[in-house]
Amino acid sequence: MAAPAWIVDLDGVVWRQGEAIPGAARFFEAVRARGQAAVVVSNNSAPTVETYLEQLRAIGIPLERHQVVSSGMAAARYLVDQGIREGVLAVGEAGLFQALREAGIEALPAGQPVGMPSVRLQAVVVGIDRSFTYAKLEAACRAIRAGSRFVATNPDLTVPARDGGVVPGCGALVAAVAACSGMRPVVVGKPERPILELALARLGVREGEDRSHVVVVGDRLDTDVTFARRGGLTSALVLTGITRREDLDRSEIRPDYVFEDLGALAEALAG
Ligand code: PLP
Ligand code: CA
Repeated sequence: MAAPAWIVDLDGVVWRQGEAIPGAARFFEAVRARGQAAVVVSNNSAPTVETYLEQLRAIGIPLERHQVVSSGMAAARYLVDQGIREGVLAVGEAGLFQALREAGIEALPAGQPVGMPSVRLQAVVVGIDRSFTYAKLEAACRAIRAGSRFVATNPDLTVPARDGGVVPGCGALVAAVAACSGMRPVVVGKPERPILELALARLGVREGEDRSHVVVVGDRLDTDVTFARRGGLTSALVLTGITRREDLDRSEIRPDYVFEDLGALAEALAG
């Protein structure tokens, strides 16, 4: 069997809202020492690649650009695969606009007085946007009602906050756009396929190739483990995020492996 390759979720696995989870750096060191491939995959489309790389380096995880995969990048790839390279209206933050730009798409920011766009709008992409406004909602709503495709980076209705509570996630903004446009989006982030295909491409796994050596390490049964199952991958759940040990008995979704944290997984690798 091929050496394992790793798809590692960020929030709840590597860090909690940017704060390192013990053992995370040790895990990436063990993977590197063994010459195995790894990418980190996050549904958060807000940070730029540079921000992700800086935050990871600050907690002792030096990665390269190609090892960072976000739902914004999955949205960009999806649009290009659909043959859409212009006429894209985006609701989002710097990371989403960067991902679109790097795929050759100069997106129009929603809700700004841009006058009459010179090209017909073909798609509206909605990512997390902490400066979401009525004007942006209106622009997205009008464009979709006029026939634009509706693409959502990720479905998370809420995301964990630093104070232990939760704050609105991209899914809440997507729900507002869905409500006024009367349309449902194509979702490209976890647990859907486009971000998985992008992560596999970054790992060098080609379409049609066996993928059972690829391990998804995540903290959620409903997204990360489901996502692994759908793609024919191996799943490893860590208990440093959303899922608790007692949740495992209650759920029908069974991960292939369960570890307390990435440190315990690093030890298993060394063992
Ligand atoms: N979206 C936003 C805005 C977030 O802040 C987070 C986590 O912090 C997520 C999504 C989920 O991220 P991940 O896929 O890394 O768990
Ligand atoms: Ca997570």
